[in-house]
Amino acid sequence: MRSEAAPQPGGLERFASPGKGRGLRALRRYAVGELLFDCPAYTAVLAVGERGSHCDGCFARKEGLSKCGRCKQAFYCDVECQKEDWPMHKLECSAMCAFGQNWNPSETVRLTARILAKQKTHPEKTQSEELLAVKEFESRRLVSVRLRKMDLDKLDNEKRELIQNDIAALHHFYSKHMEFPDNAALVVLFAQVNCNGFTIEDEELSHLGSAIFPDVALMNHSCCPNVIVTYKGTLAEVRAVREIEPGEEVFTSYIDLLYPTEDRNERLKDSYFFSCDCRECTTKEKDGEKLKIRKLNEPPSADAVRDMIRYARNVIEGFRRAKHYKSPSELLEICELSLDKMGAVFEDSNVYMLHMMYQAMGVCLYTQDWEGALRYGQKIIRPYSQHYPAYSLNVASMWLKLGRLHMALENRPAGVKALKREFWLSFDFSKIG
Ligand SMILES: [Zn+2]
Ligand SMILES: [Zn+2]
Ligand SMILES: [Zn+2]
Repeated sequence: MRSEAAPQPGGLERFASPGKGRGLRALRRYAVGELLFDCPAYTAVLAVGERGSHCDGCFARKEGLSKCGRCKQAFYCDVECQKEDWPMHKLECSAMCAFGQNWNPSETVRLTARILAKQKTHPEKTQSEELLAVKEFESRRLVSVRLRKMDLDKLDNEKRELIQNDIAALHHFYSKHMEFPDNAALVVLFAQVNCNGFTIEDEELSHLGSAIFPDVALMNHSCCPNVIVTYKGTLAEVRAVREIEPGEEVFTSYIDLLYPTEDRNERLKDSYFFSCDCRECTTKEKDGEKLKIRKLNEPPSADAVRDMIRYARNVIEGFRRAKHYKSPSELLEICELSLDKMGAVFEDSNVYMLHMMYQAMGVCLYTQDWEGALRYGQKIIRPYSQHYPAYSLNVASMWLKLGRLHMALENRPAGVKALKREFWLSFDFSKIG
């Protein structure tokens, strides 16, 4: 899996980042597009929905994968991949047979079970831990939480309940093969996994699974990051998207950067327990464009704008939940109705409009309505390119989707053009015109 000239974190060092705990710093100059380092997954778990189309071991997408002979639910490239994954897969193989339809631990539970098993079989440092060991996880992003324990107790009732559910599931589905630490230690472990876990996505940003990349977790967050993280199977690659000077801290983004400052910080506080003080968050210079209001003869009042923003946030949250139980046509209706309503106040390039268009595009892709998906995608792409930083994966994956849609609709020239816009994803940044 390791690429030819895999650079090790030699040009980088761990340091105490002011106000942020530990962080990663460059010791030399890195050019745009350059690979800073790569990191094999400490452990990874393929999403249940991807079984059969991706290898459970190396995550490669392939036709004709072979089934695990016992559970018939895990799939592998070959005997090699199967053998390598067995110490992890055996935690689930017989349990899946025994529980049948009732086997349903969350992906977080599945990942945590693997971490516990790995810590037992590999107590020594692994290749994934050159700069940060899994054992040190708690001290970084959770340090602020520990200092503000009162806050944690208060804000975390809902999260604590979720964690207790996960702990119950861990005992329920994995107890045959494992011994567990006590409840208090498991609460800390789940909190660490929630903070330090990564989701592995494919080039269209579809969720493939979850993993732990200790060295990648060492990087602090910024809304104007100088690197992005991409995945080759279960290998994470960290690449510069801006020139990095010696001595500069290396920042990645933990969140989707489409949204305005207030929304981003709400997300960071909720998931990672800090707020961001990057340039973007201080100047808020992109917020105006992101929340663009329609130019009308009679412009909407400040109250009307505030109400519409509140409405937009509610719709987004409602839609997120509705995805689990509503039909595609019902979901599409929610998108269209909300776009109609918001469109009275917001410009098409407003990020809340874009959010609902993106959801609508997703529904169209799901129902194989290629024309519908293309229509939404074409409205999204231009404002996306303005709102996201340069070399954003969100923009690249949108170009890729557009290219594939044009191809599916047999408009080859348009398809080729869109795919060319995306081709830097293969990371030949120098060819970008
Ligand atoms: Zn494989
Ligand atoms: Zn099996
Ligand atoms: Zn920020």
